[in-house]
Amino acid sequence: MAKKKQQTALSVQKGISMPESVNKNLHLKKKLSINSDTIIKGLLNGERAMLSKAITLVESRNPKHFEQANYIIEHCLTHSGKSIRIGVTGVPGAGKSTFIEALGLYAIAQGHKVAVLAIDPSSERSKGSILGDKTRMVKLSAHENAFIRPSPSAGTLGGVAQTTRESIILCEAAGYDYILIETVGVGQSETAVHSMTDFFLLLMLTGAGDDLQGIKRGVLEMTDMIAVNKADGDNAGKALMAKSEIENAIHLFPAKSSEWKPQVLTCSALEKTGIDEIFEMINRYKTETIKNGYFEENRKKQNVGWLYDTIYNRLKQLFFENPQIKLQLNELEQAVKDEKISPFHGLKCKKLQNSKMTPLR
Ligand code: GDP
Repeated sequence: MAKKKQQTALSVQKGISMPESVNKNLHLKKKLSINSDTIIKGLLNGERAMLSKAITLVESRNPKHFEQANYIIEHCLTHSGKSIRIGVTGVPGAGKSTFIEALGLYAIAQGHKVAVLAIDPSSERSKGSILGDKTRMVKLSAHENAFIRPSPSAGTLGGVAQTTRESIILCEAAGYDYILIETVGVGQSETAVHSMTDFFLLLMLTGAGDDLQGIKRGVLEMTDMIAVNKADGDNAGKALMAKSEIENAIHLFPAKSSEWKPQVLTCSALEKTGIDEIFEMINRYKTETIKNGYFEENRKKQNVGWLYDTIYNRLKQLFFENPQIKLQLNELEQAVKDEKISPFHGLKCKKLQNSKMTPLR
């Protein structure tokens, strides 16, 4: 026994390692514990670091950050709204990030401030496929008048859409007047982006063909502009052909309530041609829809939608995070697995109906 002790004393000590249980997000906590008014002041001054912090709070799933995020958003609301919110979609490889960089730099050259946000429902699996790659938009991200924020890497589409809407408000309060929201051409994310933007742009490639590259009719109907990208080199002619094919296809679509006729243009994001025309067209859309009242009306409608989404999200959160519900759901889950009750029986369960919904905070 004594011998063993001696050996231990002579052996090299490992030192004190940090136990696993130490909160790995401690640094984050420290960073976030900045006073809300300091964040608001910095944000309204256009400080990107403070804008970043505010968005991190909005994205945080920590209930402690909820109040602080709400406080900041409330104070920013009166400073928001003075922008054009542009949704950009297209299949992977269509050139979205190259295009956003080209359009963003062009807008900055015209004296604007550009913020780029993303909605990527696949990012939970792919760990942020949109804007996650730092090599994308190198020039734009380095510019002092640009702010680029990747899609939150976790959460449902509903949750991600909610935080993106709040991020739009924060970016606007920080003085960004061109807000670009990127999404991939998959499923419902376009609908989410359309519900929070003024102008919806679809980026396409040449050789559109009859099937219009598998783009759903619903997505086509949402668009205010289709830009056929990569109209350069040998592709330039094909791009013009694609443009007229698309024009023929969308010609028959019902008129929009904005009274705006969707435009089809060609561009090369790589060679930066056609970008000026697209920029002008977006501005023309803004001028015309402000004039006919649609711009304001649409934003009001979107705000009402935002209200309902907030209510649904909050109710869902309160329900599923309730300790009693959690417990009973575990029991119900097991009963369904054991085939003791049908999944439909779950809703009829007396226990679940009777449990009190206690506020979380
Ligand atoms: P995303 O997946 O839609 O964001 O597409 P990227 O912007 O990453 O572009 C995909 C590829 O297409 C990259 O290799 C780009 O360099 C290229 N690309 C993008 N725009 C153009 C363009 O206008 N012309 C050409 N020739 N290539 C382009």
